[in-house]
Amino acid sequence: MLLALQWQFERGEWFAPEVLRQRQWRQLQVLARFSFKEVPFYHEFYSREGVTWGRLPGRLEEWTRLPIVSRARLLAAGETMVARKRPLGHELGQPIKSSGSTGQPVVVWRNNVKDLLWQAITLREHLWHRRDFSGKLAAIRKMEHPGLGHPPHGNLFSNWGAPVMHVFQSGPMVLLDIATASIAQQAQWLLREDPDYLLTYPTNAAALADRFIEQGWRLSRLKQVRTLSETLTPRIRERCRQAWGVPVVDVYSANEVGYIALQCPEYEHYHVQGENVWLELVDPLGNPCQPGEVGRVIVTDLNNFSSPLLRYDTGDWAIASLPCPCGRGLPTLAGIMGRTRNMLVLPSGEKRWPMMRPSLYRDIIPLRQIQMVQHTLDQLEVRLVVDERPSHEAEERLRQAIVATLGHDFVINFQYNDQLLRAAGGKFEEFISEVG
Ligand SMILES: [Zn+2]
Repeated sequence: MLLALQWQFERGEWFAPEVLRQRQWRQLQVLARFSFKEVPFYHEFYSREGVTWGRLPGRLEEWTRLPIVSRARLLAAGETMVARKRPLGHELGQPIKSSGSTGQPVVVWRNNVKDLLWQAITLREHLWHRRDFSGKLAAIRKMEHPGLGHPPHGNLFSNWGAPVMHVFQSGPMVLLDIATASIAQQAQWLLREDPDYLLTYPTNAAALADRFIEQGWRLSRLKQVRTLSETLTPRIRERCRQAWGVPVVDVYSANEVGYIALQCPEYEHYHVQGENVWLELVDPLGNPCQPGEVGRVIVTDLNNFSSPLLRYDTGDWAIASLPCPCGRGLPTLAGIMGRTRNMLVLPSGEKRWPMMRPSLYRDIIPLRQIQMVQHTLDQLEVRLVVDERPSHEAEERLRQAIVATLGHDFVINFQYNDQLLRAAGGKFEEFISEVG
C-alpha cells in the first residue's frame, strides 16, 4: 500500500492545480455531508450558524460559508467531535494530544487511514529529497519513550525504522534525547557518529551550527539537515550552510491533521500535501490571502472520518505563494511564520513578527540561548543563557540592540538561566507574547 500510494502521489502531484482542486472538492463535499449527518458537533455548530443540510456548500466557492473551528471550540467539543458511524479504516485509534498555547490538549483521534497516510507522506518526503537510505541517520529530538537516547551515547538502531524499513533496506539510525543532552554533548556525539543526515529542530540545528563554527569542527559525511516542528528561518538555513555546507529540508505538520506541507524537492518553499489536507490562508478579515501575504492557516483534514476536522484554525501563520516553478500542481506556501503567540504586540495594538537578530546580540554578549517573553504592552523579559555574567554596560548595549530590532522602547528585564527548556513537544519558541 505504501508503494501504491507513492505511485498515486507521483502521478497526482503533476496534475494542473485546477484538476487537483476539483478532486479535493469532491472529497470536501463527501466530508461536509458526512460530518453534518454523523458528527453531533458539526450538526449543532453549523445549524446554529444557519448552515442546514440544504445549505451545505454546493460549489467550491461556497466552502468559506462554513464557519471556522477554533482551537477553543474544538477543546469544548470533546466527545461530540466523534462520528457516530465510522467507515471501514476509520475506527477510533489513539487520541492525539497536542499541547496548545494554553497548555491544554486538543483531542482528535487517529485511525488506520491517517496512520497509513502519515507513513506514505513520510516516505514521499524521503523520495522527494533523494536520500541515500544506505547512509546513517542521526536524530536529536524529543523521545517518545522515556529512557531512550540518553547522553553520552544515545541509542543505535540497525535501520531507519518505519516507514522506510517496510520497503527499503537502510543504514543505521542513531538517536539522542534533546531533553537530556546539552549542546556540548550533542556536538561531541555528532563528531563521533559522523552521520549522513541530521534530523532535529531548527533552533537546535542553529545552536549546533554555532558550536561547530566556533570550534572549527566539520562533519565530513553530512549531506542534509532535516528540520521539523518549529519555524525554520532563512537565518537558520544560512547558519547550517556556513557550518556544514549542506542544505536544510523542512517539513510542516500538526499533530491534529498530520502532514500539512513538505519542502519542494527543488526550491525552498513548501508544497501543501493536497491529498491529505485542504488548506486555506486567510487574512484577519477572513478573506483569502494573495501571494506574498501572511495569513492564518485553516485546514480541513480530507481523510479523517473518525473525528473530522473541517476549517480548523491551526493557530499558525504562513505566507501565500505563487505556483511553484518546479511544475508540481500541489498548492504552495512561501514560508511558515509561527503561531499567533509568537507575534509581538506594539502599544498601538499593531501585531507584527518580531525581528530576532541572535548573531547581532551574540556580538554584544557571548550568549548560548535567548528567549523573549512579552508580559505586557511595554514590558519584555529577556531570558539568557551565558557562560559568564555580562557587565552592566554590555547589558545596556544589548537592551539598545533589542529595542532597535523590535521597533519599540520596551522596558526590558534580563533574566539569567542555566538553560532554557523546550515545551513538552520538543518545540522551542524564541519569542512568546502573553499580551491579548
Ligand atoms: Zn515545487
